[in-house]
Amino acid sequence: MLCAICGREGRGFCWVSPPRVGTRRQFKRFCSMRCQDIYARRAKAGGGVVIDPTHNEKAAMEAVLPRLGEYVAAIGMDRPLADYSREEILQLVDVVLTAYFDNLRDLTPDDVPF
Ligand SMILES: [Zn+2]
Repeated sequence: MLCAICGREGRGFCWVSPPRVGTRRQFKRFCSMRCQDIYARRAKAGGGVVIDPTHNEKAAMEAVLPRLGEYVAAIGMDRPLADYSREEILQLVDVVLTAYFDNLRDLTPDDVPF
């Protein structure tokens, strides 16, 4: 089960809704205490439902660009992507995903649109 905040693999951190007659219990899994805390903070702010994640995702994509540029510059700006080794591609993916999810996690409560 994937983390309810960032979409990474869930790792033993979870939240279970309290039992209520006539309703099914909800279960959320998280990759880390950090994401679990984000979920709790959002839930306290307004119910934990993301109304417009597109704004946050766009901001996270923009935040990736400097780190992506640094990595590509380190590899060599003149090298086409097809010439990258498997390890260089995997490192590129890691740089992008880490920057993306770090930005989503670093959003302050005021940035969360609910
Ligand atoms: Zn997570």
